[in-house]
Amino acid sequence: MTAAVVLGGGMAGLLAATVLADHVDEVFVIEGDQYPDAPGPRRGLPQGQHNHLFMKGGADALDELLPGTTDLLRAAGAKQRGLPQDILTRGPRDWFERSHTDTWLLLMSRAALDDVVRGQALKNEKLKVLQNTKVIGLVGDARRVTGVRIEKGGREAGQSVTEETLTADFVVDATGRRARTPQWLEELGVPAVPEDLVDAGFAYASRWYEAPEGTPEDFPGVMIQVQPGTGRPGRGVALLPNEGNKWIVTLFGSKGGEPPTDEEGFANYTGDWDHPVVPKLLAGATPLTEIRSYRGMQNRWRHYEKATMPEGYLVIGDANAALNPTYGTGMTVSAKSALELRTELRAGGGLTPGLAKRVQGRIAKIVAFAWQTSAGNDVFFPGVQTSVPVKGEKFQIWLASRISQVAARNQTVCNIAFTVGTFVAPVSRMFSFAYLWPVLRGPRKAALTADQAIAQFPGFGNLLDDTRTEQRVPVSHPQ
Ligand SMILES: Cc1cc2nc3c(=O)[nH]c(=O)nc-3n(C[C@H](O)[C@H](O)[C@H](O)COP(=O)(O)OP(=O)(O)OC[C@H]3O[C@@H](n4cnc5c(N)ncnc54)[C@H](O)[C@@H]3O)c2cc1C
Repeated sequence: MTAAVVLGGGMAGLLAATVLADHVDEVFVIEGDQYPDAPGPRRGLPQGQHNHLFMKGGADALDELLPGTTDLLRAAGAKQRGLPQDILTRGPRDWFERSHTDTWLLLMSRAALDDVVRGQALKNEKLKVLQNTKVIGLVGDARRVTGVRIEKGGREAGQSVTEETLTADFVVDATGRRARTPQWLEELGVPAVPEDLVDAGFAYASRWYEAPEGTPEDFPGVMIQVQPGTGRPGRGVALLPNEGNKWIVTLFGSKGGEPPTDEEGFANYTGDWDHPVVPKLLAGATPLTEIRSYRGMQNRWRHYEKATMPEGYLVIGDANAALNPTYGTGMTVSAKSALELRTELRAGGGLTPGLAKRVQGRIAKIVAFAWQTSAGNDVFFPGVQTSVPVKGEKFQIWLASRISQVAARNQTVCNIAFTVGTFVAPVSRMFSFAYLWPVLRGPRKAALTADQAIAQFPGFGNLLDDTRTEQRVPVSHPQ
């Protein structure tokens, strides 16, 4: 009998477990939480209260791993929106023209998304989830991990707690952003693993709303991205349709630009941009939850691929690289990483020596791109704390700004930028003449004004009419 143990039953853990099930007799998933019976929040996933968009590249990977999942997500109410053709988008510099691209986002609450993905993954009878069970350490030595130490029962719930050991032929650590992996490895005598940190002090404030009555089915939502390199804090917002008639509204900002968390400040937030589109929409919507904040969104990449790691131990998902969620890449990286595990398992015919090292190397390539899109931007916000040296700062800021200016007006550049950015097209597309020439030449026409950008979207209906947007007294219904 061969057994794999997966630590953490979140997105990365369940997808890795799905892949492993084809190559071992049993897969145990150790999850500290009790999963909710219906879509709902849970303690081990505090980020679930905030906006979670799924990029097309990640959604495609999800379908490869668990066929039919994105159809189930749509059936459960996920909204598919082309980027930027179906979402009013303001890039770091300008409002985008409504041009067609070959990519999209799936928009849904994290709770509903997880419910569907979990349902799909747990159809596999080889997966056994030990819920309310906490990993407290590893078994083995610096050369090989042979199992894990677990604690069953809930100290928090005042239940009695028992400690046990589970042996495993292969262990995947997917314990998320708050992973204790470095301590566990240290206990085995593994030398410290090199780590990169870029912390621009980003914070979120989020709230769910019931969309106003009469909101059109093709309501586009609003995405306003942060601009690095101006010397000012970044400020942005995502107001996006989710399942049901719900909107999730997430305000975000870097150090010094943290979003307001009070009723009035939230409802009237216009960041640094030139139009009160968000307050106008919110004025007609009904709050469904309180305003919730989230901090600690630093980019942290633990370079297990560079370390001398014990055999049989792979670190995946946020436990390996936690990325600033403002850029929306985390779940996509997790899904694509699980595909890399599958590729290596298939190539080698199962659990072969060096498997974890090879997969860790493959995952590093995916993370490297996601890291560039998030940490690579974040290093240019004021007050950033970083362990990463920044080279060619002026050129990088100029290039990022130029790309966003041109992409906002040029369909080809826009398509390449968004398909690469959402993990649909390879990065090499950005080195093509079709991309580089317009970027070097610069914008050929004036940027859209906010009103012109909004006018491109009939899906706003009359929601932005001044007659509709007299302020309501917000009613709080904590979820
Ligand atoms: C505020 C916020 C917003 C985000 N928005 C987006 C977005 O829009 N798009 C996107 O793609 N990504 C987003 N992300 C990132 C996304 O949440 C993660 O990348 C994704 O959940 C990674 O999955 P994971 O399995 O590594 O970690 P998680 O999904 O966090 O799962 C970790 C699991 O491990 C369990 N666990 C932890 N420690 C133990 C232990 N000791 N024993 C047993 N179980 C344990 C936890 O209970 C949890 O179930 C966001 C993140 C944050 C913080």
